[in-house]
Amino acid sequence: MLSVDEARAKLLEHARPLLETEAIPADAALNRVLAEPLIAEVTVPPLDNSAMDGYALRLADWAEDKWLHVAQRIPAGQLGHPLIIGTAARIFTGAPVPEGADTVAMQEDCETKDDHVRILKAPKPGANIRRAGEDIADGQTVLHAGERLNAAKLGVAASVGATQLTVHRRLKVALFFTGDEIVLPGHPLKVGQIYNSNRATLLALLQGLGCEVQDLGIVSDDFEATVDALEQATRHADVVITSGGVSVGEEDHVKAAVEKLGRIEMWKVAMKPGKPLVYGQIGDCDFLGLPGNPVSAFVVFCLFVRPFLLARMGAADTAPLGFSVPAAFDWKRPGQRREFLRARAENGRAVLYPNQSSGVLTSAAWADGLVDIEAGHTVHEGDAVRFWPLSELLK
Ligand code: AMP
Ligand code: MG
Repeated sequence: MLSVDEARAKLLEHARPLLETEAIPADAALNRVLAEPLIAEVTVPPLDNSAMDGYALRLADWAEDKWLHVAQRIPAGQLGHPLIIGTAARIFTGAPVPEGADTVAMQEDCETKDDHVRILKAPKPGANIRRAGEDIADGQTVLHAGERLNAAKLGVAASVGATQLTVHRRLKVALFFTGDEIVLPGHPLKVGQIYNSNRATLLALLQGLGCEVQDLGIVSDDFEATVDALEQATRHADVVITSGGVSVGEEDHVKAAVEKLGRIEMWKVAMKPGKPLVYGQIGDCDFLGLPGNPVSAFVVFCLFVRPFLLARMGAADTAPLGFSVPAAFDWKRPGQRREFLRARAENGRAVLYPNQSSGVLTSAAWADGLVDIEAGHTVHEGDAVRFWPLSELLK
């Protein structure tokens, strides 16, 4: 059995980034992975400009009791004139600072009378002036290949005028779900059947990553049927993901089917929930077999599948940020495997969901993070524990 870190490292080693790229409208690029650096061809901001509504002046013209003539008015979007010595310019946020002015006094510090202004507080040199290029210099690489485009990065791209971005093409993921007891919502449940919850969870997770998903439905617990489904899945997909059927019972056919068509690189990770996680290759296609238990499938996706898929999509950074918080619980029985417990950070302390069974999916819906406890460790209330926010594990 591999440790969590070994398994993750091994998976990432196998994640070959997609080579095909496409230029797409920047407006449609949310969550896509940039394939080429974005280099600015403009300066941001283009000119020195005012950070405040107020008055632009020469510091040398200021004295506590001195009234300055307001000789011009510069709203944002207009260029003023060079400042005449001994005068001030009425100026607004974002307007270019006129030539000759070396400071801006904010209007709250000014008194006005007719077309004159008196600045009550001694201005400081350069105050309230945003310098040309202080955000972005012409020629600067503003976004790097391998960055996943989020809201702020798309804003940066727009601020340098980009309308198109070159990204890795979407990753094609084929999915199927094993289990004779599994039924799609919308159908009545017969005795002994349960609804397919993994489909809903995995579809949402994959959509969140921007994958192109092909859903091949439910496959019965049968070797031939599993082989057929795998053959179909590997025809067009880059990655095939399945749930269930990866344990060692005689109703578990996924491993044998993968071995028939390709090869298995790993299949057990020392963790709870989880443990069975099959990684293999069938031709050019990667195969990831997740456990059937809904919580296990979810946690395994967060910890392994997501970083693997991101790396496959060309993303450079796949590591989530975790932090240390005091436990609001006791964990008295040391586990044999590293555990990832469904938890919330409440008032800065980690609180556990009362039922940590890997079948209880409401624990994952309730949680906003996972508490990570090493094998063999116990925890006393107040001890620091590692907390992985789901917002990080799923971002
Ligand atoms: P398995 O990994 O196939 O042994 O399944 C482990 C447990 O997860 C069993 O209780 C299954 O009924 C359940 N399970 C498997 N697949 C799903 C699914 N798609 N949705 C909900 N539960 C599932
Ligand atoms: Mg099963």
